[in-house]
Amino acid sequence: MVLSYHEFLAIGNISHYPSGQQADRSRPLAKAFKKQKADQSPERLERLKKMLAESKTGQQTLEFLEQKGSKIIFEKMNYYGYFSPDNNLVALNPAMSDEDLAVTFVHEVRHAWQDSKMETTSPEMTPKAFLVSGFAIEADACAAEVMYAHEMREKNPKIWAAHQKSGYAPMSTAFDKTFKETGDVEKARADALLTWYDLKVKSSYADTYVDYMSQIARELKKQKELEPQYFAENRSTKQIVDTLCKDYDGNQFLKDDKIMETSAKLSISEKQAYKLSRALFPYMTKYKRTAEQLGLDKIAVNRSNGEKTNCAVILKQVKLEKSKSAVKAAAQKGKGR
Ligand SMILES: [Zn+2]
Repeated sequence: MVLSYHEFLAIGNISHYPSGQQADRSRPLAKAFKKQKADQSPERLERLKKMLAESKTGQQTLEFLEQKGSKIIFEKMNYYGYFSPDNNLVALNPAMSDEDLAVTFVHEVRHAWQDSKMETTSPEMTPKAFLVSGFAIEADACAAEVMYAHEMREKNPKIWAAHQKSGYAPMSTAFDKTFKETGDVEKARADALLTWYDLKVKSSYADTYVDYMSQIARELKKQKELEPQYFAENRSTKQIVDTLCKDYDGNQFLKDDKIMETSAKLSISEKQAYKLSRALFPYMTKYKRTAEQLGLDKIAVNRSNGEKTNCAVILKQVKLEKSKSAVKAAAQKGKGR
């Protein structure tokens, strides 16, 4: 009865497909390719694989794909691509350019690799751990793209150039800056990853995560008694970072897990916080679960007026709203109407 995150996405309760980058229709390249008949031939897939094989990260991506036995297909869609863990399938949008698809290939197989390391979007995690993990898998998959584009800069500079024209350009810019200053690719990759949190796309992932957790909360509220496994696993941020932020050789490129819990990283909007709190409140009241147990006090909230607070405070406000409307309803009744 409780949907997995991927079932939730498959039903179409989504504005953005979290296992794929959101397609940016304003991109001139994407537009140009839209007009052409999309090439979905096996030859094109081979050509993309050759583009990957020219770099270390790309080679390791292909090796992992082979080992995992994931199928790779072309599929028309509104985003670049996706990975489906249920079907062990990587899908690429043939309307995109080869340069965009090569990085998407790296991105989606990175999701398959993450999935082999830990369950990344489980309804059993606390909302706090779910958000840390959900943001981290996207930031990491996008940072893997930048790593690949960097390794290809001499052999095929068009890949880096395409990235620099995309909505994800601040990530390759951050990589470049750190790499030029330090010569340290691990540090550069970590900085690219951390820059993901400044992108607009973070908010659209937060929307989907909030929608999913809200639906789970409503489902759980309907049960006769508490199903203790849900929203219960307070997986630590250190465990998430130590598992995911490694290159394919096992080198930890992001060492500072604390930064992932700062208000700049672990944050949602005021609107998202109200939505989540309103969905969680009846569930929490029914089963006597506290904001701290769910980690709501750790989730920063950016109010629309620029102030910062946290989701436990928003939950209290929701509680106040509810009790006020209950008093109002009782008063109405008292008037005998
Ligand atoms: Zn993704």
